[in-house]
Amino acid sequence: MWTLDKHRYDQLPYPTVIVVGGGFAGLEIVQKLAGKPYKILLLDKQNHHCFQPLLYQVATASLSSDSIGHPFRRTVGPMPNVAFRMAEVKRVVPEEKRIETSVGDYTYDILILALGSTTNFFGNRQMADVAMQLKSISQALDIRSDFLQEFERAMVIHDEEERQRCLNFVIVGAGPTGVELAGALAEIRRTVLKHEYRELESSLMRIVLIDSNDRVLKNFSERSSANALKYLQGLGVEVRLNQRVTGGDSDRIVLDDGSLLETNTVIWAAGVKGDLIPGLELGVNERANRFMVDRTCQVQGYSDIYAVGDIALMEEPDWPRGHPQVAQAAIQQARNLAHNLIRRANGHPMRPFSYRDKGSMAVIGRRKAVVDIGRSSFGGTLAWLMWMFIHVIQLVGFRNRMMVLFNWAWKYISWKNTIRLIVRPYMRKGTAVTRAFVAQE
Ligand SMILES: Cc1cc2nc3c(=O)[nH]c(=O)nc-3n(C[C@H](O)[C@H](O)[C@H](O)COP(=O)(O)OP(=O)(O)OC[C@H]3O[C@@H](n4cnc5c(N)ncnc54)[C@H](O)[C@@H]3O)c2cc1C
Repeated sequence: MWTLDKHRYDQLPYPTVIVVGGGFAGLEIVQKLAGKPYKILLLDKQNHHCFQPLLYQVATASLSSDSIGHPFRRTVGPMPNVAFRMAEVKRVVPEEKRIETSVGDYTYDILILALGSTTNFFGNRQMADVAMQLKSISQALDIRSDFLQEFERAMVIHDEEERQRCLNFVIVGAGPTGVELAGALAEIRRTVLKHEYRELESSLMRIVLIDSNDRVLKNFSERSSANALKYLQGLGVEVRLNQRVTGGDSDRIVLDDGSLLETNTVIWAAGVKGDLIPGLELGVNERANRFMVDRTCQVQGYSDIYAVGDIALMEEPDWPRGHPQVAQAAIQQARNLAHNLIRRANGHPMRPFSYRDKGSMAVIGRRKAVVDIGRSSFGGTLAWLMWMFIHVIQLVGFRNRMMVLFNWAWKYISWKNTIRLIVRPYMRKGTAVTRAFVAQE
């Protein structure tokens, strides 16, 4: 009898499935199709899976980067019917069942696009130039180095206005990412800045959270929004609602009422859009920058091409504008598609997908979190413990789970964010930070 183990990958007599993107959706498909009668090629422009929900903790020095990343080769190593190539996919040529990538072309029988999303600046080009983003580990490390450099710089600057600009941190977008970042920075002010930068008055550090909506966490229940606002304000975050950032440069931002806010650090967490690749124009929804898919995740207008996760826009009666761009939607769609491909291999018809909303949660600080599940909303310690538990079990890899747990326990006991290395490989030219440090050399 034929077994997978005895054959080399390239001799497998199965249809080739190319999965582009090893985020939540792509990795789930690969794991579900491991050992099944498909020859799978996983392509990603990174060499690791990134657990995005904890990126803000890398950015704020609570977790090291390797505790939320996991190398694809370690995941697929034990899977005989799966191979990995680090490659950026540039274009799909559907009529030839071919994709063009940074390392050459590949042909497929079935193509699965799990490309995720990218930061949406809503056409604000000035902000796209100067604001920092939080979508990858390298961006998280950049933010971490940035705020630490601003602290160091504030210590050596004598001009009061200039020093205040170093200590004004602006976050645009009060969704879960913005709220979590603001809360974590506020805790840094309370712990690190107060005790380790003693010559600085910690109250000089301002954390300003701006959103054009009338409440924080607008996709959560009103109760959770109100709780989150209370927690943020309790931590001393300045929350500015119903305000929009219209422009700015590396020294300040401009708000829609014409006012200016002097700052060297703006982090843009105001929205995402699909990270499309060209070649499938028939299936693109331009408003959302996502691929329109049917209930089996097949991209509209094309056969044997599927899209899952953030990049896919599937309309369901309960979700007429598509599913939320969150990990659960990506995982559930991927699971359904993998099961459908197994059914297809066995000659059975595919089953339509239905999204099951398992709830939302966000953490604002130590024992301060909000959770919405079904019709119930709650906050405080129970929500915080739930948030930690859910995030730890979702991490890829036992070592990562242990590292995260250990770091959280250590931080809880010691009140310290210890991973505070400035590791920027280079400094961006022209930023205030570069000007200050280069001037002193
Ligand atoms: C800071 C942050 C916090 C978040 N917090 C939460 C949270 O608390 N809860 C929650 O449910 N969701 C959260 N999300 C959203 C969640 O992470 C996404 O919904 C989820 O990652 C989507 O999974 P995906 O597989 O579609 O895409 P991703 O996980 O983004 O994976 C896409 C993959 O595709 C690769 N890729 C992209 N383009 C190409 C290309 N052209 N060629 C090759 N590879 C490519 C990328 O490198 C990446 O590995 C958060 C997101 C961010 C950024």
